[in-house]
Amino acid sequence: MTARIIDGKAIAAEVRAEVAERVRAHVAAGGRPPHLTAVLVGDDPASQTYVRNKGAACTEVGMTSDTLRLPATTSMAELLAEVARLNADPAVSGILVQTPLPAGLDEIAVMTALDPDKDVDGLHPISLGRLVQGEPVMVPCTPAGVQQMLLRSGVDPAGARVVVVGRSMLVGKPLALLLGNKAPGGNATVTIAHTGTRDLGAVTREAEILIVAAGRLRTVTADMVRPGAVVIDVGTNRVEAPGTKSGFRLAGDVDFDAVKEVAGAISPVPGGVGPMTIAMLLANTLKAAVGG
Ligand code: NAP
Repeated sequence: MTARIIDGKAIAAEVRAEVAERVRAHVAAGGRPPHLTAVLVGDDPASQTYVRNKGAACTEVGMTSDTLRLPATTSMAELLAEVARLNADPAVSGILVQTPLPAGLDEIAVMTALDPDKDVDGLHPISLGRLVQGEPVMVPCTPAGVQQMLLRSGVDPAGARVVVVGRSMLVGKPLALLLGNKAPGGNATVTIAHTGTRDLGAVTREAEILIVAAGRLRTVTADMVRPGAVVIDVGTNRVEAPGTKSGFRLAGDVDFDAVKEVAGAISPVPGGVGPMTIAMLLANTLKAAVGG
C-alpha cells in the first residue's frame, strides 16, 4: 500500500484564500489592512529568505508588511527599545521577531517583551500559558499548521494515539498541548518523545498519528511506523545536492520513500508543513488585527 500524500502546499493555499477573503471583507468595511512588521537582526541568509517569503505572503492576501533590519551588533537594550516602539505603534498589527537571534541576544526576553496581542508567533509566555489553560489565542504557527493539515485532510486527532517526536518550545511542546487539549481539533492521547526516550521505535510504532520534529535526517525509518499511520514530517534538513542552483535540497526527518509504503498518509518535505507555517502566520496576523 502506498500512502496518501497530505499536500501541505494545497492546504496552505486554501487557508491563504480564506484569510484573503476575510482581509477583503475587513477592508471593504473600512478597516485598515492588517500590517505585519518583521524584525530581522543580523544578516543570516536563511532568515533573510524566510522574512522575504513572509512579506510576499502578506502581499498576496492583501496585508501590508515591512522589515525592521538591525545590525548583528544591536544590544539587548536597543532591541527591546525597538520592540517597545512597535508595541506602541497602532499601525502595526503583528510583530514577528525572526529567530535565531545573534549570540548574546536573549530570545525569551525578547518574546516576553512583545505585546501578547501582537505576538503572531504565539511564543509569548501569555500565549503559551493560554494554550496550557486550554484557551489559546495565538497558537504558534507550526503547531497550528500541523493541526490544520490533519483536520483539513480528514484526520481528526480526537481519541487517537498521537506521538510527537521533539519537545522544543517552538514545535513539539505546543503541538502536544494543542492536540491533547479537550477541544475540537484536539482530544488526542499524546506522548512526547525526545533524545532521552528509550527505544524510540517502540514508542513511535504505537502512534496512529506520528509527528516528527527532531531536526535530524532519518529519525524515523519504515520499521518505526505502525502500518496505516498518519505521518507528519516537520523536519527541514539541508542535504547537499550537487548540480542544483543552491547546492542543496530540503529533506525531512522521515525516510519518506520507505515510510510511504507503510503509512496510510504522509506529508512530504518540501511541500508539507513549511507552507502551512506561513499560512498560519497570516491567520494569526489577521486575528491580531481584527480578532476572531
Ligand atoms: P529543536 O529545538 O532542535 O528540537 C528538536 C527536538 O527533537 C528536541 O526536543 C530533541 O530532543 C528532539 N530530537 C532530536 N533528535 C532526536 C532523536 N534522534 N530522537 C528523538 N528525539 C530527538 O528543533 P525545532 O525548532 O523543534 O525544529 C525541529 C525541526 O523542524 C527542524 O528540522 C526545524 O528546521 C523544523 N521546523 C520546520 C518548520 C517548518 O515550518 N517547516 C518550523 C519549525 C521547525 P532533546 O530535547 O532531548 O534534545
